Amino acid sequence: MAIEGMAQDDPNKLTVIIVGLGIAGLSVAIECHSKGHNVKVFEKYEELKQMEGDGISIGSNGARVTAKWGDGAFHESIRPLEFQTNRAKVFDYTGYCYGTFELHGYNEGRGYTVNRGALVSAMHQYAQSLGIPITLGSGVTKYWETEDEAGIEVNGKKISADCVVCAEGIHSQGRLSITGQQMSLQETGYAASRGYLDARVAARNPSLSWILSEEQSGSEDCIYGWLGPGVHFGITTKKKDNELFCLGDRIDMMLHLQTASTPSQSDDETMNQILQCMDGWAVRDQLEAVIKGVMSGRFISENLAIRTPLTTWLSPKRRMIVVGDAAHAALPSSGQGGTQAIEDAATLAIALDLAGKRDVPLALSVTEKIRYQRAQIVQQGGLAVLQFVMNHVDFDALRQDPTMVKPPHPAWILDHDCQEYASREFSKVAEAVQSGQEYVPHNIPSDGQYRMEYDILPTDSPTAEYLDIQSNEDLLGFSIPTICFTAIYAFIAMVYNQ
Ligand SMILES: Cc1cc2nc3c(=O)[nH]c(=O)nc-3n(C[C@H](O)[C@H](O)[C@H](O)COP(=O)(O)OP(=O)(O)OC[C@H]3O[C@@H](n4cnc5c(N)ncnc54)[C@H](O)[C@@H]3O)c2cc1C
Repeated sequence: MAIEGMAQDDPNKLTVIIVGLGIAGLSVAIECHSKGHNVKVFEKYEELKQMEGDGISIGSNGARVTAKWGDGAFHESIRPLEFQTNRAKVFDYTGYCYGTFELHGYNEGRGYTVNRGALVSAMHQYAQSLGIPITLGSGVTKYWETEDEAGIEVNGKKISADCVVCAEGIHSQGRLSITGQQMSLQETGYAASRGYLDARVAARNPSLSWILSEEQSGSEDCIYGWLGPGVHFGITTKKKDNELFCLGDRIDMMLHLQTASTPSQSDDETMNQILQCMDGWAVRDQLEAVIKGVMSGRFISENLAIRTPLTTWLSPKRRMIVVGDAAHAALPSSGQGGTQAIEDAATLAIALDLAGKRDVPLALSVTEKIRYQRAQIVQQGGLAVLQFVMNHVDFDALRQDPTMVKPPHPAWILDHDCQEYASREFSKVAEAVQSGQEYVPHNIPSDGQYRMEYDILPTDSPTAEYLDIQSNEDLLGFSIPTICFTAIYAFIAMVYNQ
């Protein structure tokens, strides 16, 4: 059934209904449209928030996909919005500086960092420019499927398609009706607080102006990190929009954390909790000025909880699938939630293209098989990073080898080409699905375990070439365990709000 005001579908084309206008839903819409499928998107909100949240970093594995949109036009459109954060400057709680380190995979020419709301708006605008039908103010209330079609109910109307993609985000209601499961929450025992400062005010305050000085960070933005026992603290500048973010993570403070997550909690209480965590820090006074500079009402504190993985992303008849946070919401410390959603989208579009209208359930099964373990290991990685940072910081070892502070670069995540992989693996996975045999993915570490690592593909690989990785250091292709790098990574990720 067609929805009022919506153009009739071309019956020869595959039709995809997408629910949710976040990074996941928009990426599915754009990728499926590029394959020539009919696409319809439904979003419950009447309008999108233009500048919602803070920044989000899209890693090179996601940027590789979005770089192709409009032959680079999409990337051009977001360039003015990008934070210029290519480096992190790392200290410990004594004030000792380990150095300034490049953020491989999340920096210019590879990945990008932009305000999350602005990214969604830019994707929305790009989808509109392609003529993709998007219906706002349309909360989907029901999902259904038969052997031949799947559909939704929205605004009292039943709409059908060849398949339905539920990209409703972490609090998805549709997930239960599609997969029969809900994600349960498990507290990690850690919490994060975020705050926002006005850079114009900071520039006038002698105790804060150092953050913005050219001497500290040059003309670019900078991420500053301070590592302490069980606590770390970071500041990200966004000079272009006169913003600063600061962040503290705390350990073993469940009482505080529970209090901290109560909405009625005041800024003063949050400030005091963070400052208490810094007792004994040589740089406490310096950072106290930053914490006290947070704008009124602009502290956000929350417990960090993990979501249990779903056992399947598919509906019983395999005409409906959950993607993005609805399928595999990860802790912010994974730094990959939105990026993995882009991988879901690109993989699904290719699988639908290759399976065709004849075998939509096969396409959805192949997508799940290719994406499931990878997304799950990234999801686990968020916790691994957080625990590692909080429990294993050995400052003496770091001083002896400051290279351990280098931001990590797990090549299996950041250098992965999900489109090339899906196209290459489709037949093998399809055969496994059809024969009921196990498919062993190789877009994950060979032992299926997440670990913090620093490895970069040699420049002669197609991936590296595409990403224009050229430094001498990149040529080495080494792999070392990193400690602080993960700390910085964790707070970089946490600086970015939903
Ligand atoms: C602090 C923090 C830092 C992060 N940092 C990073 C980072 O650096 N890099 C990165 O890649 N990721 C990061 N992430 C993760 C990233 O923000 C999410 O993974 C991503 O935004 C999820 O996108 P989504 O489209 O799946 O969900 P959402 O953005 O939640 O979108 C879901 C949409 O569905 C709509 N919807 C829901 N139900 C219905 C319905 N019934 N009918 C119609 N519409 C509906 C909602 O209104 C919403 O618009 C971070 C997350 C957090 C919390």
